[in-house]
Amino acid sequence: MSTDRLKLVKESFEKKAIPAEDPAGNPSEYFGELVFDRGKMHRYLDPKTLSSLLDCVDGGKPLDRKTADAVAQGIKEWALEHHVTHVTHWFQPLTEGTAEKHDSLIDYDGKGGVIETFDGSSLAQQEPDASSFPSGGIRATFEARGYTAWDPTSPVFIMGDTLCIPTVFISYTGEALDYKTPFKKSLKAVSDAAVPICRLFDPSVTKVYTYLGWEQEYFLVDEALYAARPDLMITGRTLMGHMSSKNQQLDDHYFAAIPARVAAFMRDLEVAGHRLGIPIKTRHNEVAPNQFELAPIYGEANLANDQNQIVMNLMKQFARKHGFVVLLHEKPFDGVNGSGKHNNWSLGTDTGTPLLAPGKDAKGNLQFITFFVNVLAAVQRHNALLKASIASATNAHRLGANEAPPAIVSAFLGRTMTGVLRKLLEVPSDTPIEIAGKKGKSVGLVEIPELFIDNTDRNRTSPFAFTGNRFEFRAVGSSANCAGALTTLNAAVAEQLVAFKRDVDVRMADGRPVNVAVMDVLKPLIASVIDTVCFEGNGYTEEWKAEAVRRGLDVETNVPRMFEAFTRPESVAMFASTGVFTEKELVARNEVKWETYTKKVQIESRVMCRMAVNHIVPAALEYKSRLLKELALHKEVFGTLEGCETETELLAKITRRVEEIRVRVAAMKEARKKANAIEDEYGKALAYHDVAESLAEIRRPIDKLEEVIDNALWPLPKYRELLFIS
Ligand code: ADP
Ligand code: MG
Repeated sequence: MSTDRLKLVKESFEKKAIPAEDPAGNPSEYFGELVFDRGKMHRYLDPKTLSSLLDCVDGGKPLDRKTADAVAQGIKEWALEHHVTHVTHWFQPLTEGTAEKHDSLIDYDGKGGVIETFDGSSLAQQEPDASSFPSGGIRATFEARGYTAWDPTSPVFIMGDTLCIPTVFISYTGEALDYKTPFKKSLKAVSDAAVPICRLFDPSVTKVYTYLGWEQEYFLVDEALYAARPDLMITGRTLMGHMSSKNQQLDDHYFAAIPARVAAFMRDLEVAGHRLGIPIKTRHNEVAPNQFELAPIYGEANLANDQNQIVMNLMKQFARKHGFVVLLHEKPFDGVNGSGKHNNWSLGTDTGTPLLAPGKDAKGNLQFITFFVNVLAAVQRHNALLKASIASATNAHRLGANEAPPAIVSAFLGRTMTGVLRKLLEVPSDTPIEIAGKKGKSVGLVEIPELFIDNTDRNRTSPFAFTGNRFEFRAVGSSANCAGALTTLNAAVAEQLVAFKRDVDVRMADGRPVNVAVMDVLKPLIASVIDTVCFEGNGYTEEWKAEAVRRGLDVETNVPRMFEAFTRPESVAMFASTGVFTEKELVARNEVKWETYTKKVQIESRVMCRMAVNHIVPAALEYKSRLLKELALHKEVFGTLEGCETETELLAKITRRVEEIRVRVAAMKEARKKANAIEDEYGKALAYHDVAESLAEIRRPIDKLEEVIDNALWPLPKYRELLFIS
């Protein structure tokens, strides 16, 4: 095994880049060719079917069976031109990633042969035997039915030989069993709450869109080295491994030239993404060695999130083609940065006005400030819940560790916006908010400088930062489904907007003009957020933790406990009033969250114990035995052990570390046994939280052993190999 490792390392190092597939043409020629988008709808559907379908897509009308059949006919024609053989409903259950079950398109033709068929019912609805998906007790096995139903706002696409129909996934009794259903409800809630406010400024607004621009961070490791690391294969992260002497201290990986093998992978990934209509835009080396980032142009949030799910799948697929494995885990390696997925989030009207960017005039600026402040108020009120929405067993390794984000949800505004808010508190409510530099300055004006987008300084320690025309929710984990976090954010914002509008209406009924009524309601909100949720300092410091407690922000670091926020009365009321989750769904989802947490830690703990016993201890004993033989030989030849300090010191170290491992592994197994006996999911997750904490206690002696044992005997690829071969 030991020599195997060195051989593997050498072979991995010598691998050359495999050329990316030549797409034959420019991106504009093949962009979206594998998506049944509006262009295809026009081409493959008759005018009546097209207009009925667009009523569903744009107007939210239900899809009738006749239209579904006609749409299916058009999709089939298009799909067969692409040699599609199978179809699947594609959904996002409460596991990681997506689910699909392929059916071939063939059916008997009644004449002894087969034909390709695809009709409206297979398009619109299916009943997968989905009893094995997590439901948190919503579906007992005797009523295990789950339904998938097409979400016409997410276009159908082709992946390989398979037609994929994006669907929601719900139970027989109507509860959501997936990410998409509540996400779509939250998008509607935001729109419904925001439109009446927008109409105070522009009566022609009928819909408000939520936009998402995600930035996906990931690691690549050579697949041969990956295969020699059971921990990476099974848990997605290294449970042991001494830090490499050089890691990211020199910042020499960030934005550096992209290695050829990686560039070829990225190119294939981008072409595949562009074919699927995913506007992949940015690629670069990230801070940690072998860490990279991909970001598309932002888009409507439901579609953008589907696209993120697709990209994560494509990454896994193309990494293998290039001899890599992609790691989407939030913290695959200790001691270097982990991976997040910044969610750039904003709102905009169907009239094309962005709601989180300064406007063209005083009125536009007031509208901007209105949405800006209400978002902050929502984040303040539900800061514990927002943290819970991004919490997981895997993201726990980033949260609160010395990198974004701290385990406290605060908002960073930048100097400009902080100044604007403070000024607004001082001036009368009817003071126009102007953009500086346009009309000259007059006393009392609240100015928003023109170069405002570039002005927002970057505070990388903030989990929720304003960046000029959007908020960046940075706490989201790299492996997460963005919908988890954004459903909560949207619902919280929707609730706040409804309350705000109610208060404005009361003041307008008193006869106050719109701008005064709006500002009168905003002022107390501004005063409150600025002293509570807004924080411009370094989020990593101990002082901030103490300060956050004083401000009443949630500072819980225990992930299973964070989830409790979902079922607190104010959360239940918020989700119910916005129509996003029922209490039953919230309770069920928490069961799933606790169960998932427990299982992840349980798996890590098992892998840790087995690797310690099967890999590490034998290597240590092998080296120990070699040292003992050497001592015996020395004694035989020289008649003394004098001059054997190196050997005896090493022996003592090895013996001590191996003993530590033995004792701690036994203790962990005992702790697991006790935890497994706990019936309720919350209690069990809490017990497993303690198991998670003690993983480090086994890791420590292992990493110490790695420092002293003969390199040729070490059985696992080391950090310096995993992180520096690409
Ligand atoms: P950063 O400097 O923050 O790493 P990137 O260019 O990597 O910036 O990513 C920024 C992301 O934000 C992109 O996906 C971009 O499309 C998205 N974005 C830009 N403007 C908006 C907006 N108004 N709403 C939502 N997302 C946006
Ligand atoms: Mg960013």
